[in-house]
Amino acid sequence: MTVIRHEDLIQSVADALQHISYYHPVDYIDALGEAYAVEESPAAKDAIAQILTNSRMCAEGHRPLCQDTGIVVAFVRVGMDVRWEPQGKVRREGAGTSLAALVNEGVRRAYRAADNPLRASIVADPAGLRRNTGDNTPAVVHCELVPGGEVEVRIAAKGGGSENKSRFTMLNPSDSIVDWVVQTLPGMGAGWCPPGMLGIGIGGTAEKAMLLAKESLMAPIDMHALKQRGPQSRAEELRIEIYEAANALGIGAQGLGGLTTVLDVKVLDYPTHAASLPVAMIPNCAATRHAHFVLDGSGVARLEVPDLARWPSVRWAPAPEARRVDLDALDREEVARWRPGETLLLNGRLLTGRDAAHKRIADLVARGQPLPTGVDFRNRVIYYVGPVDAVRDEVVGPAGPTTSSRMDKFTDLMLGQMGLIAMVGKAERGPATVQAIRKHGAAYLIAVGGAAYLVAKAIREARVIAFADLGMEAIYELSVKDMPVTVAVDAQGESVHDSGPRRWRRGAPGQGSIGGIPIVA
Ligand code: SF4
Repeated sequence: MTVIRHEDLIQSVADALQHISYYHPVDYIDALGEAYAVEESPAAKDAIAQILTNSRMCAEGHRPLCQDTGIVVAFVRVGMDVRWEPQGKVRREGAGTSLAALVNEGVRRAYRAADNPLRASIVADPAGLRRNTGDNTPAVVHCELVPGGEVEVRIAAKGGGSENKSRFTMLNPSDSIVDWVVQTLPGMGAGWCPPGMLGIGIGGTAEKAMLLAKESLMAPIDMHALKQRGPQSRAEELRIEIYEAANALGIGAQGLGGLTTVLDVKVLDYPTHAASLPVAMIPNCAATRHAHFVLDGSGVARLEVPDLARWPSVRWAPAPEARRVDLDALDREEVARWRPGETLLLNGRLLTGRDAAHKRIADLVARGQPLPTGVDFRNRVIYYVGPVDAVRDEVVGPAGPTTSSRMDKFTDLMLGQMGLIAMVGKAERGPATVQAIRKHGAAYLIAVGGAAYLVAKAIREARVIAFADLGMEAIYELSVKDMPVTVAVDAQGESVHDSGPRRWRRGAPGQGSIGGIPIVA
C-alpha cells in the first residue's frame, strides 16, 4: 500500500500549473521552430516568430504565455493500492475532501501565486449570472482507478479560444473521417490560434469520443518520428492523413494563410456500436500547456526545467517598412490608406473592452442612457483584451487579443453610433461585420494570439476609465509604443482571413507541390 499525502498532490498540481503557464513543452518548441524554418508565407512566418519570441520571454521572465491562462483539466489515474493521508489545508467542498477538492486546492494556489498570478477566467452559473469564481476553480477532473500504487496526473490549462472550436459528429460507419475534418476545419476559423494540434477521438459513445479527443492532446508532438517509422495501425494512418490534409488547406498561423496549420494530429479510439461512428475534434492552440507527473509516495513531484538552448534563435522585430500610426491623430483618411496584410506599429492611446463591456454599452444605449464620464469612442481604436494582473514593475501583465467574433453583434453600434474607427483583436470577423467595417470606412486589425507577453511590452501606461467592477473586462485606456498589429480587414472590406488561406491552399492557382511542400509562383 502506497501512502500519498494530500499536500503532495496539492503542491504538485500548483507547481505544474505554474510551470506550464510560462514553459511551452519542448516538443512544441521543436515543432514550431521547424515550422518557422520552412514557412514561406511572410505573414504566417512573422506570426510564428512572435510566438517563438514570446515563448522565450515567458520562459525567462516566468510570466504567462497568454493572457488566457486557461481552464484546468486533469486526468488522474489513482492506483488501487494507494491510501490517502490527510495533511494540508483543503477547502471543504460538499460533504468532505474529494480528489477534485485536492486538485482545486492546487489550482487555487497556482492561480493566486504572488510572483506569477494567473488570470481567473472561470465563471459559475454559466447560463445565468456568469460570476467569476475568483481563483479559477473548479477544475474539470477525470478520475480512473487503475492497478498499482501510484497516482499519475496529466494536467492542462486549456485556452477558451481553442476550446470554443471543439466539434463533434456522428458519422455513418462508411463515412470518411478525413473528409469530415477537411470540411469542418475551415469553418473553425482562426480563433483557436494555430499553429497547434488537433485531438481526434473516435468511437465509444458521444461523451467518450469527446474525452478521447481531449486526452489525446496530452501526448507529446511526434509527427515527424511517426512519419519516419511509418504507421502501424489505422489510427496512426489517420493521424498522417489528417495532418497532410489539414495543412494542405493553407489556413496557416493565425489563419493568415501559410504552410503550417497543425504541428501534429493525435488520434485515440475505442470500440463502438456497429451502427455508430462518433468522432470528436478538439484543437490545441499556440499556448499549448500540459504537464505529466507521477506521485509514488516519496513527496511532491519534480518537473524538469527545460533547457532554453532548445528554443530556436528567433528574435522577432518589426520589419523596417512597418507603418507607424499615431493613434492620437487618427482619422478615416489615414485608416483608408491601410492595406490588408500590412504591419502597423500603434503609438498613442488605445481603449480596451471585450464581452462584458460591450454588453453594458449596448444596454446603456438601449435604455437611452449616456456612456460613463470620460468614455468617448469617437475616432478611437478599441483593443479586445483582458490582461493578466501586473506584478513588480509591469504596467499590465500579458495582454494578448481575445477572439473578435464574439464582439461582432456589437460592431455596427460601435462603429456607427459610438464613432469607433478601428478594432484590434484576433481571428476572422463575420460577413455582416466586414460589411459594417466597409460601410463605416473603418478597419479591423489583429495582434498575434499566443504572443501576449510580447504585446504587453508595448503597453507603457494603463488606467481604468469605466466599469472597474468588471475586473479584467473593465474599460482601460492604454498608452502604447510600437504595438505590432496586422491589417486584417481594410476600409474596403477585404479580409486577409479570406485571401490568405485561398492563396496558400495546396492546389490553389500558382501553386505546385514538391515532396508535399507547395511552391508559390
Ligand atoms: S493562444 Fe489563443 S486560444 Fe490559446 S489561450 Fe491564448 S488566446 Fe486562447
